[in-house]
Amino acid sequence: MRERFDAVVIGAGLAGLWCAREMARAGLQVAIADRKADPGEKVQTTGIFVRKTFDETRLPHAFLGAPIRRVHLHGPRGATLSLASERDEFRIGRMSELYRHLLAQAVECGATWLPAASFEGTHPATGGSLVHLRVDRSITELTARYVIGADGARSLVARDLGLDVNDNFLVGVENVYRRGANEGEPELHCYLEPALAPGYIAWAAGDNDELHVGVAGKAGKFDPAAALDRFVDRVAPDLGLSLPASFVRRGGLIPVNGVLQRIASQRGLLIGDAAGAVSPLTAGGLDACVRLSSAAARIIVEACRRDDSSLLPQFDGNRFRARFIARLWMRKAFSTVTSPHLLDLAVRLAALPPLRALASHVFFGRGSFPDVRFAFETTRDAVRA
Ligand SMILES: Cc1cc2nc3c(=O)[nH]c(=O)nc-3n(C[C@H](O)[C@H](O)[C@H](O)COP(=O)(O)OP(=O)(O)OC[C@H]3O[C@@H](n4cnc5c(N)ncnc54)[C@H](O)[C@@H]3O)c2cc1C
Repeated sequence: MRERFDAVVIGAGLAGLWCAREMARAGLQVAIADRKADPGEKVQTTGIFVRKTFDETRLPHAFLGAPIRRVHLHGPRGATLSLASERDEFRIGRMSELYRHLLAQAVECGATWLPAASFEGTHPATGGSLVHLRVDRSITELTARYVIGADGARSLVARDLGLDVNDNFLVGVENVYRRGANEGEPELHCYLEPALAPGYIAWAAGDNDELHVGVAGKAGKFDPAAALDRFVDRVAPDLGLSLPASFVRRGGLIPVNGVLQRIASQRGLLIGDAAGAVSPLTAGGLDACVRLSSAAARIIVEACRRDDSSLLPQFDGNRFRARFIARLWMRKAFSTVTSPHLLDLAVRLAALPPLRALASHVFFGRGSFPDVRFAFETTRDAVRA
């Protein structure tokens, strides 16, 4: 194995895989390391992609479930708001297969895959950084011109590069059930349930093959596994579901502090959850993974071409963060309402015009993670990207 790389990416989730593939495609020498042996194992996400992501990016559609057009919002005391769109709004990704596919593409483009390799630390060295990885019981050292932190919500790369770290989390957990043919409609149900999902929501999201039933709430304020068991017992009869006994359980932390401010230095940068790139309101991070990773790949490719690390500070969290200020406030306001009666009333009011139009906008009117143009890019470059 070579020991010097243009870029070493830590983390083979959606953010790291996307960025590694884009950089390898552009001809850089890239290594991607993950503590997992297979990126498709221990998936944490539900994998709901929004229309703007599957319509506007090169996300391979072969790994997406049937389109979802219908959404139901349930209050804690029985109020329900049902919305239908004329367009395909959501699709649930087959994330294990998608991750393996993106990895195969990166490797085809020349990237080096380092499985079961845990990031131990990095420090400055001639020509960039020395990166220490633990593989089995031994330490491997690589030299990287740039280190990319795609190592999730509690990023160690962020800490080692002296960048900002996440400090506000939801914790989410869900059961994934296989569905039989023609069992159930593609639909998304969201439940405002402060007792089971304090500060966020519970959900049941299904397409023709899979049903995901989950809860997420403020970390430290509830017992996620117990809340999920109670929610499953309740929601299954509500939805008329007979849930199979076997399921796969997924879960993890969701940073909801908004995009961090300092996400790059001259030694490297952060993407995905490591950069806090998750909508504080919807807790969706997959669109941000794709868009921020594309932007990161462009700046790293250019910095390598010009041999100029001074470009990296253009990868400034404030450029992305501005779009999320309103959502941060909405999330703060939302998480302070804990009265079941008030939440139920809010759902009833949202069912009436003109608030119905607003609710429709929240679910279907897709903002997305901002696409930025860097000072070195012409408009044509950015459009092509
Ligand atoms: C339960 C749940 C449901 C969600 N549902 C949705 C949804 O439906 N739609 C949506 O848009 N968003 C959703 N999100 C958010 C979304 O999943 C994340 O924002 C996104 O997956 C983050 O991807 P990532 O690549 O940044 O991080 P991750 O997917 O967390 O990948 C990080 C990778 O880094 C590796 N790693 C970590 N530390 C080290 C180390 N020290 N050494 C080596 N490797 C390391 C990990 O093994 C992992 O593979 C959900 C999140 C959760 C927790």
